[in-house]
Amino acid sequence: MIKRVILKHGEEQRILSGHPWIFDNEIQHVLVQKTPGFVEAEPEPGEIVDVEYSRQGKPAYLGRGFANPRSKIAVRIYSSSKEGADKGFFKRRIREALERRSAAGFRPEKESARLVFAEADRLPGLIVDCYTGWDAGVLRTAAGENGNPGALRFEDAETLLGPPASWLTVQFLSYGMDMRRDMVLQALDETLKFQGGIAGIIEKSAPVRELEGLPLQDALIRGTFPAAGIIVFENGYPFRVDLFSGQKTGTYLDQRDNHRLTSERARLSAALKSTPKNRGGHETAFHAETEKQSFRILDLFSYHGAFAIHALRGAGEGAEALAVDSSAEALETARLNARLNGLETQLETRKGDVFDILTSLERDKEKFDMIILDPPAFAKTKSALEGALRGYKEINLKALRLLKPGGILVTCSCSQALDEFRFREIIASAASDSGRRLRLLDFRYQAQDHPILLGYGESLYLKCGIFRAD
Ligand code: SAH
Repeated sequence: MIKRVILKHGEEQRILSGHPWIFDNEIQHVLVQKTPGFVEAEPEPGEIVDVEYSRQGKPAYLGRGFANPRSKIAVRIYSSSKEGADKGFFKRRIREALERRSAAGFRPEKESARLVFAEADRLPGLIVDCYTGWDAGVLRTAAGENGNPGALRFEDAETLLGPPASWLTVQFLSYGMDMRRDMVLQALDETLKFQGGIAGIIEKSAPVRELEGLPLQDALIRGTFPAAGIIVFENGYPFRVDLFSGQKTGTYLDQRDNHRLTSERARLSAALKSTPKNRGGHETAFHAETEKQSFRILDLFSYHGAFAIHALRGAGEGAEALAVDSSAEALETARLNARLNGLETQLETRKGDVFDILTSLERDKEKFDMIILDPPAFAKTKSALEGALRGYKEINLKALRLLKPGGILVTCSCSQALDEFRFREIIASAASDSGRRLRLLDFRYQAQDHPILLGYGESLYLKCGIFRAD
């Protein structure tokens, strides 16, 4: 018999607005049928329950979910009807999620994408990322050690090795989903039909599993994963990904569109820069050449250099970038990515703490045409927000001091606890403290394969503003 979770008076409002979580302190009763009536009961972790509230003294239905008495999130609603969580259900939900991606222009069989984004796709606690590409070792051999000195292209890789294969990373971040992992994997198998096939499935852990009472583990569930990593293409540019040692599930898929916009901005700004000042015909080609300055990019918290490489590809010849990260391993991959993109002479890396490096760059009077700030989540919780705000303000302020007149600032925050309005306020206050005027060119969120579900604020976490400074 399915247990009934009855909410305390008033707690139904958030759920009626589309939020899928019931917190443990919002529950009045958990009841199970015992002829002739109902008695109090406690659900097992992962058990399916029906959620109700009392409307004018009568029970009203809210939905069905996975219970977990060990977690503060006592129930995660997966449906507003009384449907079971069987394989057919998972297949339906995965198909719906794929349909949403395809409607937004994603083609996971060609380009990596997040296929399932947990609650935002109404699959609580399930994340599935699809990395599509080629074994980096095999590709290197096929292309020849020295390869083509220019950038590797998707078409070249396809001509050499045939259609790309896909590797999935799967995260089971709720007890109910973890318990049903075999069914989920079967449903994925039966739903994903990619030309190049699924070459491997890797389970990735995340600290939130501990809050559910689940162990932390990364494991190869099926197939193989190449020792040299894989080469994937993002916006047409090649990047190496290692799904085991990489951060997140391998790379920051959520920044795909912001990378692309940054590339486009770099193209526009660099083109302006290389236009000879005097178009009146007095200037000789020689003068125009000597006037041309290099377009300088600073990519802070660079990880594998995705922003720097996109900006360099956009800006074209003569541009140069400095990528800064505290991880030597991340910077090594950034240099490899630069080589894959034919940019090895244009990308420099510096290992260190961004806060210190910003100070030393200012001391050295360095100036840049474009600065990218993409820090990790400074505020992981609401209570850590105040300290995080100071961190965001400081890096934005220091970055603005290094920006040339007319320079572009690309600034991000992936702290879910910091809302977009407060984030813009911080940037505005950094601008006023540094005596700069900023104009907003673009303001974006995470890419649409990480859907933002209204009523479920937790699904909006990434903010990215692109500004031009006077
Ligand atoms: N910009 C990247 C993602 C950045 S993730 C992209 O678009 O793909 C955040 C990065 O910041 C990580 O690589 C982490 O190693 C680095 N990091 C965290 N704290 C840092 C600090 N104080 N100084 C320098 N790098 C830091």
